[in-house]
Amino acid sequence: MDTSVTIEKIISLAKRRGFVYPSSEIYGGFAAIYDFGPYGVELEKNVKDFWWKYMVQTREDIVGLDSSIFMAPKIWEASGHVGGFSDPLAECKECHARTRVDKMLNEIGVDADEKMPIEEIDKLFKANKAKIKCPECGKNNFSDAKNFNLLVKSNLGNFSGDVNENPSYLRGETCQGIYVNFKSVTDSSRVKIPFGIAQIGKAFRNEITARKFIFRTREFEQMEMQYFTRPDDEMNQYEKLRANRWEYYLALGIKPENLKWHKHDNLVFYAKEAYDIEYQYPWGFDELEGVHARGDYDLTQHSKFSGTDLSYLDTETNTKYMPHIIESSVGVGRTVFALLCEAYTEEKVGDDLRTVLKFPKKMAPVKVAVFPLLKNKPELVAKAKELFDSLKWTYSCEFDDSGNIGKRYRRQDEIGTPYCVTIDFDTLEDNTITVRDRDTMTQERINIDALPEFLQKNFV
Ligand code: ATP
Repeated sequence: MDTSVTIEKIISLAKRRGFVYPSSEIYGGFAAIYDFGPYGVELEKNVKDFWWKYMVQTREDIVGLDSSIFMAPKIWEASGHVGGFSDPLAECKECHARTRVDKMLNEIGVDADEKMPIEEIDKLFKANKAKIKCPECGKNNFSDAKNFNLLVKSNLGNFSGDVNENPSYLRGETCQGIYVNFKSVTDSSRVKIPFGIAQIGKAFRNEITARKFIFRTREFEQMEMQYFTRPDDEMNQYEKLRANRWEYYLALGIKPENLKWHKHDNLVFYAKEAYDIEYQYPWGFDELEGVHARGDYDLTQHSKFSGTDLSYLDTETNTKYMPHIIESSVGVGRTVFALLCEAYTEEKVGDDLRTVLKFPKKMAPVKVAVFPLLKNKPELVAKAKELFDSLKWTYSCEFDDSGNIGKRYRRQDEIGTPYCVTIDFDTLEDNTITVRDRDTMTQERINIDALPEFLQKNFV
């Protein structure tokens, strides 16, 4: 029996058990957009809460921000997105699918990425075209490689109805909101360089090759932290950030053998160094997070385009300089996807196949399921409800009284609930309950009063 983790199995479980649905399904779907269902939203929330705790709450040198999705359109000119935020694409002349040329080159072992000048990519593409097949139709008849801008335009505040007339943009990344608030944050809080600003929020990109489930979507959420440093301290802080981000993934519960660093060989002109942290998705290692040293490009550009000097007066060294920036940038969806892959397990139990999501306990969408043994015994139901009520403000819990206990266990296994607690007739006599462990499937009988301590110990 093949118990390997495939993208098809993940997609199917995610839909069947309320983690992730294709958007607008009753209308035939809407390409490359997904919705998070009842368990998906809990998992997402756990990911964001953990990131925030790790990145902001436990750090004295990092503060949070929530900037808007819409910003002055000039910001996107300053950042280089209006002119250069593009993917190199080629169109298949047979089926008209557009595909990223850098990715097709990578697949046949040619080193290329989207940041290379388009002329260079086109040259590589022409030299290797004969070996490349269209991923949609399998034929080999492509146009030249051309750049396609990824920014999503809107007519916000423009009532002519023409989206091309003075467009405003849905942000293509959250970090621009951080850069343009640099001055407000330094003026209004006690931060001193080196310090960071972190935020979680939606970003939008007109991705052409949006395949691979929630790995690449047109609407997605980013968790970004931009760290402002002295120019001569940038690379020292960068090394610290890299080490910190690796530790974060281990603390999140990802196995180190499923993670690796990928160093960018082709840097954008202002970048000092760039690494990605890759996760081993079902199709192989691919980008989960970017950790980049960006020099003073961002604040210099925004100073130029806004006319506001964003240089920083360092009262410790009594010098004025343009801060350098190092960043950590990761998608919520890509993290959720990685956690689903990491957790997905199929096990043979007797003659059955058990599907279980072995999430790190703190990430599980439901922490505790509470079952009365029989639904038609009011005294059991009342006792179980009482227990549920005593836990619900501390843990996300689920009450389930339908079907036999074995079926209820399997349902909770499939959504990754670490503990199922059953109230039976003995509970009414001696106040003991059965606690069943998701991973070992063992059942332990403990006193109901000992449950809070048991859970506290196991959810650290
Ligand atoms: P890729 O090369 O995969 O397109 P990128 O290098 O353009 O990614 P960045 O602009 O560095 O990505 O964005 C930082 C992070 O945001 C990525 O590492 C990823 O986790 C997430 N991200 C970027 N684009 C998408 C997308 N279309 N869908 C989901 N997550 C995304």
